[in-house]
Amino acid sequence: SGMVLLQVRVAPLGVDRMLVLADDRTEARRVEAIRRDFVVNVSHELKTPVGAIALLAETVADAADDPVAVRRFTERMQREAQRLSALVHEIIELSRLQASGALSDVRTVDVSDVVDEAVDRARTTAQGKNIVITVGGGKDALVYGDHNLLVTAVRNLLDNAVSYSGPNTRVGVGVSERDGLVEIAVVDQGVGIAQDEQDRVFERFYRVDPARSRDTGGTGLGLSIVKHVAADHGGDVQMWSEPGKGSTFTLRIPAADVPAAHPVTVDPDQ
Ligand code: ADP
Repeated sequence: SGMVLLQVRVAPLGVDRMLVLADDRTEARRVEAIRRDFVVNVSHELKTPVGAIALLAETVADAADDPVAVRRFTERMQREAQRLSALVHEIIELSRLQASGALSDVRTVDVSDVVDEAVDRARTTAQGKNIVITVGGGKDALVYGDHNLLVTAVRNLLDNAVSYSGPNTRVGVGVSERDGLVEIAVVDQGVGIAQDEQDRVFERFYRVDPARSRDTGGTGLGLSIVKHVAADHGGDVQMWSEPGKGSTFTLRIPAADVPAAHPVTVDPDQ
């Protein structure tokens, strides 16, 4: 391979430096290939809702004298427009994460605040399906990070848990701390993911069932965003799933090494 060749040719410079250089070239090529794939995928994904909206607009124009049809097609247009807007939002989010230095606003973050905010936002969708979200643990779990990005990550996991679960089920969010890592686990009783799909669900735009995912408004980017947020925080995301039983996604972020969780503040009036 190119790497070995380079190593031999410039051995006098020191193998260490060479390996880094060769690695950089391979890495640059890999990044370029990923970028190219991404652009191709983005164009393809954007064309679908844009094409649907254009077609629906034509249909509405043709059906102008049939109010029932007009209403039906306009509603579908609204849904497609919402999907398009979610897609654009997630593409921008992911591009921002892929750029270096994505963590612009790093501070000590209380993980239970992150979870509360994410749960608040997911609750409306959950209520529509009569899914109860329960939260446990997480007192004083602190990490260094970007509060908003962490909310986005947990929210994506919660949205998936709700989307891929049947009505009248439960979704649980548990926060715990172990071996210097804060773990946020999102557990559902949903459709689960087959073994041979489990490696792929973190890929950009990958959906196990594109038709179903489209119905739920999925973009196929949610888990890629979660993976990026985890990595940018020096953490990771893991998954356990059994088809027909449910799934658990665990986001792990290094705990903030804060000696006093609650700094003492002096009240000037006392
Ligand atoms: P999407 O926007 O389609 O939900 P994601 O990247 O968030 O995209 O997820 C990728 C795919 O992984 C989904 O289309 C779905 O098939 C599967 N998936 C994700 N989360 C779950 C879950 N909690 N239960 C079952 N399947 C899931």
